[in-house]
Amino acid sequence: MNKVDLAQYLDQHADELFSIAQSLFDEPEVSREEEKSSSKFKRLLKEHGFTIHEFHQEELKYAFYAEYGQGHPVVALLGEYDALPGLSQEGGSKEKKAVQSGGAGHACGHNLIGTCAFGGAIAAKKYLEESGQEGTIRFYGCPQEELLDGKVIMAKHHAFDGCDTAFSFHPWDANFPVYQGFLAMNNMRFHFTGVSSHAGQAPEQGRSALDAVELANMGVNVMREHVISSARIHYIITNGGEAPNIVPKEAASWYYVRAPHRSDVNDITNRVINCQKGGALMTDTSLDYKIEGGCYEILPNEVLFDLASRNYEEMKMSPYSDEERELAKALSQSLPPDQVVKERENIGFYDENDFISLNVVPKEKAMVYSITGSSDIGDVSWIMPFSAIFTATWPIGVNAHTWQSASASGSTLGQKGMLYASKIMAGMFFDLVNHSEILSKAKEEFKKRTDGKPYQSPLM
Ligand SMILES: [Zn+2]
Ligand SMILES: [Zn+2]
Repeated sequence: MNKVDLAQYLDQHADELFSIAQSLFDEPEVSREEEKSSSKFKRLLKEHGFTIHEFHQEELKYAFYAEYGQGHPVVALLGEYDALPGLSQEGGSKEKKAVQSGGAGHACGHNLIGTCAFGGAIAAKKYLEESGQEGTIRFYGCPQEELLDGKVIMAKHHAFDGCDTAFSFHPWDANFPVYQGFLAMNNMRFHFTGVSSHAGQAPEQGRSALDAVELANMGVNVMREHVISSARIHYIITNGGEAPNIVPKEAASWYYVRAPHRSDVNDITNRVINCQKGGALMTDTSLDYKIEGGCYEILPNEVLFDLASRNYEEMKMSPYSDEERELAKALSQSLPPDQVVKERENIGFYDENDFISLNVVPKEKAMVYSITGSSDIGDVSWIMPFSAIFTATWPIGVNAHTWQSASASGSTLGQKGMLYASKIMAGMFFDLVNHSEILSKAKEEFKKRTDGKPYQSPLM
């Protein structure tokens, strides 16, 4: 069995994969509620001959891994399946149209992520069976990516122990392996306690917790000029008191700090905490705070980037039908034209007759492509050599978390991009099994980049 056979095997299973992706799309479950989606994958993988391993912690009830094979390499494919609240959208629709007003929807295409990893896993298993080679494939069911902490919690409980390397897929508007990107971040909450009193009769007896929140925010806002310009600090006030005529005894805020490197996030986090302490000091109130979560940026691995790049070229995308092209055109034309033009430049695809990217992004552009969201896949990249595969499932210029990305994720347009990614994962697995030096080099590079230091959870 060679790579062409592996691609053919996945083509033969395309209907099965497309219907799984569609069924997840039709029953979206938001983070921490992925009961049906995780059960579906457990059942399907069991039917395909995988052994299911569950975790015993309550916070990992929708996480698991399914394993097949023996010995090394142990390759993890990371599946996700959570949807987003309020982004319900009819799949394949050319206009914004909720299936259920205010309901959840797969606007980040995680229905495709889980199914892509499932496709990669069954193809890898097929190869191990046919070839009799040594090697292990694991499908990881990873919940609550949208809360940016599913894999962070999994890592805290050593869920990834025993793996040599991990691959993950994300739907996008272009075909490229991710070299670098995603912002490291911290998620924290501040709570101030003061003294309540009548705001008209006895304000002098009160100590306003809301004043503390406002002064702390002011401190952070003037600090913005003195942090690296690529940092992002956002907050909301989650409690500002009960009524204007009562000096607020309790007040609270919720902050995210993001930056390209975890070390910057740690530094800025400390300064944000100092601003909060200052707010408490100035107002004679007390402060409690908690860092609720956080994640890392992607640690590049050039060996795996090159391995993925070769497989993008070797594996072929399925051709699109006229109907799929029309959908891509309609979705792309619903975007601001500048956004599409800019993205064509980013991905190096200029054919204005096509609204779905048909090229593989040139290496020099892929290596600098900037992704300014955050993801818990970053943490996995600091645990072992890691590769993120992005393929064109959405028309050019479409961003994640939009009705357009949801529409495409619930159609064959998105599913074909997903199938291409499954083939790339299967091809990469084939190469690792047959050329052990690739993994050795990837591990050497990983060791160099991490300085041999073990991963430190942002949660501790
Ligand atoms: Zn998302
Ligand atoms: Zn996502």
